Amino acid sequence: MTANAEQVMDTDVVVVGAGASGSAAAYALTEQGLKVINLEKLPQTGGTGQFSEGIFAVESKIQRENNHVFTRDQAFKLVMDYSHWRPNAKLVRNYINKSADTIDWLQDLVVHFDKLTSNYPGGYYTWHIYQGRGRAVIDVLQQHFAEKGGKLLVKTGSSPIMVGDS
Ligand SMILES: Cc1cc2nc3c(=O)[nH]c(=O)nc-3n(C[C@H](O)[C@H](O)[C@H](O)COP(=O)(O)OP(=O)(O)OC[C@H]3O[C@@H](n4cnc5c(N)ncnc54)[C@H](O)[C@@H]3O)c2cc1C
Repeated sequence: MTANAEQVMDTDVVVVGAGASGSAAAYALTEQGLKVINLEKLPQTGGTGQFSEGIFAVESKIQRENNHVFTRDQAFKLVMDYSHWRPNAKLVRNYINKSADTIDWLQDLVVHFDKLTSNYPGGYYTWHIYQGRGRAVIDVLQQHFAEKGGKLLVKTGSSPIMVGDS
């Protein structure tokens, strides 16, 4: 279905962009029972996230199962020292603290992780590689978003198309 300027849509939240951030935010909001519309200016979802191969995390179950010990505190110090304490420390700390929960959240949505590695020679094993690259993760997020009643509109720069409606 093509949406137009005369159409009025009722929603709690509008998420602009359906890349990795937008797709994850849109689904997470529907998980909390909110009505969500996700707008994407391109004909397809994914943004740059569809090209990614894995994500960083510390203290994940996968690391524990593989006996890789690297703590949140160690990761925080390493990142902040490396960048001369210039980034927002609170933001970095939150990102690190939530990283393992993000892996659990994705695994519950049936994203498969098939490799744990380092993303540079001699580095810590923090790199969690998912099957099907980022494209598969975006598709899983968007599928769950639709199942929870979320509305995705693509090509929002011209004549928006509501995905899933006939
Ligand atoms: C080749 C490549 C490989 C990468 N590999 C990895 C990796 O392995 N691991 C990792 O952690 N990171 C990786 N990255 C980085 C990671 O992919 C990005 O940091 C992440 O995808 C950014 O996601 P995002 O949703 O914030 O932004 P984007 O991917 O830029 O998504 C933004 C979306 O919003 C849409 N949009 C923009 N403006 C509007 C508008 N006005 N209205 C509607 N829609 C709009 C865009 O079309 C796009 O779809 C990689 C990046 C690249 C390019």
